[in-house]
Amino acid sequence: MVYRFIADAMLGKLAKWLRIMGCDVEYFSSISDRELVERAHSSGRIILTRDTLLIRRRKAKNNHFFIHSDRYKEQVKQVVKHFSIDPYAKILTRCILCNEPLINIDKEEIKDKAPIYVYETQNTFETCPSCGRLYWQATHRDKMVRQLEAMLAG
Ligand SMILES: [Zn+2]
Repeated sequence: MVYRFIADAMLGKLAKWLRIMGCDVEYFSSISDRELVERAHSSGRIILTRDTLLIRRRKAKNNHFFIHSDRYKEQVKQVVKHFSIDPYAKILTRCILCNEPLINIDKEEIKDKAPIYVYETQNTFETCPSCGRLYWQATHRDKMVRQLEAMLAG
């Protein structure tokens, strides 16, 4: 089951970490409750929220998931557990800033964009079709995996 989410404005860090795991999470740092609820309703997304007023709205009643903790690590754990998300299966397949799925890019094409050391030591590069940010796997991925392991432990 692949879930699609929209996170409320208070849950920026949760949204970021879910995107790192490859989850589809819309996030806007300034959006009204009404807009957020409308957007979730029309696009079939689950609202991740800590807002007890928001979840009383008619169009949010049956499609929200209430986040208990105000600490992002606990929030990540709650979502991963509840939705049975495999945190590593699709790690770094989506842009952390835009939520767009990354696409492979030919090494030659990024010669001028990547730091020389990275260019010389890495072979696989991905880019975000929306913002153009460059992603490379090895070092970045290992770091994220370690952080996730620490976060989800215990
Ligand atoms: Zn992007």
